Amino acid sequence: MPDKIDPRALWNLSYGVYIVTSHDGDNLNGQIANTVFQVAAEPPMLAVAINKNNLTHEFIEKSGRFAVSVLEEAVPMAFIGKFGFKSGRDIDKFADCDYKISETGCPMVTVYALSIMEGKVVSSVEAATHTVYIGEVVSSEVLKQGTPLTYANYHIKKNGNEPKTAPTYRAPETETKNKVDIAMKKYKCDICGYIYNPEIADPDNGVGPGTAFADLPDDWTCPVCGAAKDAFSPED
Ligand code: FE
Repeated sequence: MPDKIDPRALWNLSYGVYIVTSHDGDNLNGQIANTVFQVAAEPPMLAVAINKNNLTHEFIEKSGRFAVSVLEEAVPMAFIGKFGFKSGRDIDKFADCDYKISETGCPMVTVYALSIMEGKVVSSVEAATHTVYIGEVVSSEVLKQGTPLTYANYHIKKNGNEPKTAPTYRAPETETKNKVDIAMKKYKCDICGYIYNPEIADPDNGVGPGTAFADLPDDWTCPVCGAAKDAFSPED
């Protein structure tokens, strides 16, 4: 990266956390996305950025349709993990998940979602690794009241990470962090990049703040991707 680009400057941009879905006939897929935003009001238009390697990209290319679920702050990390760190090429993400089929055939995830909307693609723009799709909203619905999860709170409150396919992926910092007490040492999942921080721990799964990694039960698994404890490495 050129010297005059400081990637940290971009980290101050704000986003939400969404599930973007699409379909290819009866085949359904969806993924976590943070880059969803309204770009026009009359008629309402949305933009979404999707990695070209993702199955959802393939389906949007074929169907010209996508749907968006706005996730609430209470969404468990494991739910985000299923949609964000696993591929629909390997698992059926809708097998154990509440959803309904939209007018345009997209699966609209209704669990942990405050609202849902669907778009018909009217144009798209190439952006290096991603395609930005512009879609006209053809239906939308509020499912419940609540606080939408922001991308900042996904990182801060939920200790979340992002896959390398995310448009805002941050490569790990090379400089060594301050020395920390062993008990408070962070551990990183080698599979998905989730970082276990003892200060936050894993309250979704009954592990309270202040629990050292070594004190986690042997059957504890990564709350994001389900990997076992031995898939974790200490963070320097
Ligand atoms: Fe993991």
